[in-house]
Amino acid sequence: MKRICNQCQTEMINDCKVSVEYDVNGISISQKRKGLFNSISAKTKASVCPNCGNVALYIDEYTKFIK
Ligand SMILES: [Zn+2]
Repeated sequence: MKRICNQCQTEMINDCKVSVEYDVNGISISQKRKGLFNSISAKTKASVCPNCGNVALYIDEYTKFIK
């Protein structure tokens, strides 16, 4: 899926790895559901705009998240 920079409408570079200093796991996004074993988590990826440097975080597993 192409991601377009919301600042300058340039096509962004996907699949950049997110890492946080001192934490090799990076940032993860999780959603708690009802029930103990139904929580879901996803590793965060980033896309970078090569034109203006805007960074957008996203996950691939978004379809598993529910409202
Ligand atoms: Zn941009």
